[in-house]
Amino acid sequence: MVRYAMSLILAGCALGAAAGPVTEAGYARDPQQAVDQSYTSKIAEYTTDPLGRSPSATEAMDGREGPSFNSPLTSYLPASATVPTPAKVLGDVAGAPNMLPYSKDVYRYFDMLAAASPRVKVYRIGKTEEGRDMIAVAVADESLLAGLKDNDARLAQLADPRTLGMDDAKAEPLIAQAMPVYYITGTIHSPETGAPTALMELAYRLAVDEAPYIRKIRSKVITLITPVVEVDGRDRMVDLYNWHRANPGKTPPPLLYWGHYVAHDNNRDAMGLTLNLSRNVLDTYLAWHAQVLHDLHESVPFLYDNTVGDGPYNAWVDPILTGEWQQLGWDNVQQMTKFGMPGVFTHGDFDTWSPGYLMFMAAMHNGISRLYETFGNAGADTQERILDPDEYARTWYKPNPPLPKVRWSQRDNNNYEQTGLLTALSYFADNGTQFLRNFYLKSKRSIEKPDANGPAAYVLPGDDAHRGAQAQLLRVLQAQHAEISRASAPLTVQVPAPREKDAKSDEAKDKSRAKTVARTFAAGSYIVRMDQPYSRIADALLDRQFWAPDDPQKHPYDDTAWSMGDLFGSEVVRVTDKAVLQAPMEPVREAVRVAGRVHGSGSVYAIDNNADTALITLRYALKDAEIAIAEKAFAADARHYNAGALLVRKVDNAAFSRKLAELGLDAYALTSAPDVPSHRIGTPRIALMHTWIHTQTEGWWRMALEKLGVPYSYISTQTAAREADLKSKYDVILFGPVGVGSSAAILNGTPMWGDPIPWKVTALTPNMGIDQTDDIRPGLGGDGLAHLQRFVEAGGVLIAAEDAAKFAIEMGLAPGVSLAPDKDLRVVGSVLKTVVVDADSPVSYGYGKDFAAYSAEGMSFKISNLIARGDRLPTAKDYKRPTGRGGPHDADMPEGRVGAEAPELPDVKPWEAVPLNDEQLRYSVFGPRVVIPENLRPHTIVRFAASDELLVSGLLQGGGALAEHAAVVDARVGKGHTVLFAINPIWRGETIGSYALVFNTILNFDRLTPGASK
Ligand SMILES: [Zn+2]
Repeated sequence: MVRYAMSLILAGCALGAAAGPVTEAGYARDPQQAVDQSYTSKIAEYTTDPLGRSPSATEAMDGREGPSFNSPLTSYLPASATVPTPAKVLGDVAGAPNMLPYSKDVYRYFDMLAAASPRVKVYRIGKTEEGRDMIAVAVADESLLAGLKDNDARLAQLADPRTLGMDDAKAEPLIAQAMPVYYITGTIHSPETGAPTALMELAYRLAVDEAPYIRKIRSKVITLITPVVEVDGRDRMVDLYNWHRANPGKTPPPLLYWGHYVAHDNNRDAMGLTLNLSRNVLDTYLAWHAQVLHDLHESVPFLYDNTVGDGPYNAWVDPILTGEWQQLGWDNVQQMTKFGMPGVFTHGDFDTWSPGYLMFMAAMHNGISRLYETFGNAGADTQERILDPDEYARTWYKPNPPLPKVRWSQRDNNNYEQTGLLTALSYFADNGTQFLRNFYLKSKRSIEKPDANGPAAYVLPGDDAHRGAQAQLLRVLQAQHAEISRASAPLTVQVPAPREKDAKSDEAKDKSRAKTVARTFAAGSYIVRMDQPYSRIADALLDRQFWAPDDPQKHPYDDTAWSMGDLFGSEVVRVTDKAVLQAPMEPVREAVRVAGRVHGSGSVYAIDNNADTALITLRYALKDAEIAIAEKAFAADARHYNAGALLVRKVDNAAFSRKLAELGLDAYALTSAPDVPSHRIGTPRIALMHTWIHTQTEGWWRMALEKLGVPYSYISTQTAAREADLKSKYDVILFGPVGVGSSAAILNGTPMWGDPIPWKVTALTPNMGIDQTDDIRPGLGGDGLAHLQRFVEAGGVLIAAEDAAKFAIEMGLAPGVSLAPDKDLRVVGSVLKTVVVDADSPVSYGYGKDFAAYSAEGMSFKISNLIARGDRLPTAKDYKRPTGRGGPHDADMPEGRVGAEAPELPDVKPWEAVPLNDEQLRYSVFGPRVVIPENLRPHTIVRFAASDELLVSGLLQGGGALAEHAAVVDARVGKGHTVLFAINPIWRGETIGSYALVFNTILNFDRLTPGASK
């Protein structure tokens, strides 16, 4: 400790003595412009000193001696006679301690700023899930703002070089005239609280400051600011902080809900675009034809520009972009180091693989993605912070590392955020022409993809039975602003020949790989051309991913795979044959919809089942209709229907037609009722149960239900603890992944130390809703567990996934099921192939023989006919012969007596239970109470594929541990079922293809045992 302090003091002295003022001439303020003295002195007061020196001591040093948590750029505020400073709204300066503004106060300030300055304009860019506004604020010279329209017309042409005939000579004058747009977004992560005030002050500086470098920024760059990205979460966070201020010494609740559905994962939605904030930011970014999307976060000391990051880089970004990351990142480090600000670095260990981050919208749309992590205290308290050794250690990319122990304030955070952004904007203004040329080139290279690396296009076949999933996938691409076309006639192109499985030699395998075959796609097939400006995002989403198991990066930052065709269950064909681009096709201008209708009229209508999510929507929408489900495939009027097809009777025809059209489902009137076993389905009563530990991962399930119009009650584990008779209220309880991993935590909740911790709407905390409790600490508890047990015994169905499934197993709610050992297995958010084992189970209706599923960490199950482990027979495969005569496959023979034939060992598959033998069933003091009665034994519905075909996309190492093990299991308790998912069927709006496993379970909750109805 002493050694560190000493070296820092020495470093400070050396810098002070040798370098003189650390202000670079380029960043000098305008000496003619008056300074707002009271605001400026508050900045000094709230900025802490890195070495704990007193304010008077640092003032005496005239800011010349580093290190400092402030810079010459933000240590003063210029005065204005007409334009209000943030203090007008905040009552104090930006970054002041003990105070966080609500979104409405942030907006009030920007509106005041726009009213007072011709250099500021405010735009409403959309609403949040809870109806709050999102805004974007443009700041630039008044002449630039007056000419926005013309400037945007120039940028639009650079963004789509097809409009210039791909002619560089035509681009050059536009590059020379246009001004770039630099888009900054704040506080997507609600506990990261500093950005709104930092951006208020930044906008003021950009509008008012007459420093030459600011005048340069103002005249050469349009700065666009969304001060609050997660607006619903911001207001909840301010509530929480106000509660903390009003209850000193008490433990505040964690921020259990950020946005309406998800928390931290709001920054993983840039692929699926399921959240309003994602669509609003992307639409704004593209409408402005911006060049940069710079997102502000606060979890790393003191400023980490993480876009430079570490490998592996996303495989679909333009190499020009990766150069821009380095350029901007290292310049930032250099400038802030010169200002004497410690702990500014880039590189780090963040891999830039997944395109799910908000900032990555720019990377995938020919712009530049950037992300700052500054340091934050999750609120506005000024606090002592002790860093981890790996945070303050010096490394090659962190030559001026953060200090080991600091007193840190929200103002410090605001200084870093603003200084970083101001130097970045200044650099961008200096190099605007270069960045605009890059923007044009990246756009052009996106269009040239078919002639460069390819592919030429992706084709989504017009005859894919998964029409609903296909349309949903295409609508995601449209939301990404990718262009979609539709074949107006059949088209034939060369596609890779199917891999020859039996090819013996490597040479034969290579040959089969190089071979192509002609494939004809029906008229109406969808074509995503790669000769378009936004080909990159379509390519990244539709292609497959491969993360090498021995990649030097051992800690993928997020999912390693997302291949959306696989996860949506929609066939996507990657076509490199450029002939595809010559096929007759029409651009699709409207949102892709499946045309659905009633065909014919009669008393019974059949709707086929292809695991379409619209089926459950229809069931709940037509509450009064009589709907049965066919238990077997059948043919009627020369049309084939899969098991699970709906048979609809007694339906209001007008409402039926309307719903079919809306949902894109076809219903065919049957001339006679089909001769197929069927059972009626009602509208099961659903509860979705959450814990008071984490709500995020279930949030994706909640969102899926709401978007599909499936009614449910939102209950907590505490509700289950209170309600003795859950079955009287619910038929199905969904227990989605909790993300806590510990069954003890689910059972026990948070330790009951100290005072109750409320999550409640009160006058002080008006936004802390969604669900409420007086005390978040109690978990499910023994009572809740008993109630859940009774619920299932009485015929209810509990659906549990990932760690909730582990909980159900460990708590005895799934007798005979255990987690398969995962020794040496590595799966990190991968897409894996699964196989339907029980095609008669209603859970697998509409699934055919195999499909792709999302596995977070490679969980899988084993099933047994016994409740106790350890007394199961070895299988023929497990058994290893002892040392003895002969070879490994011969039988050993004891000497000197006649040999005895051993009973044959069972030959079972990894997803099956080992059959019982007489030894296990005989009377003994140990058994047969461990034998599960036949009608209560678990069975596997879906398993993972064999090792050699398990990996679809992403990272898989040691897959043998997972191969062929159970992925979805139906376990029996009394009259009910616990249906366990080792995969996560509902994840980030990306796994549409596996949603129906859950919906099938819901709709058939009382008929889950195949063959139960006659
Ligand atoms: Zn963050």
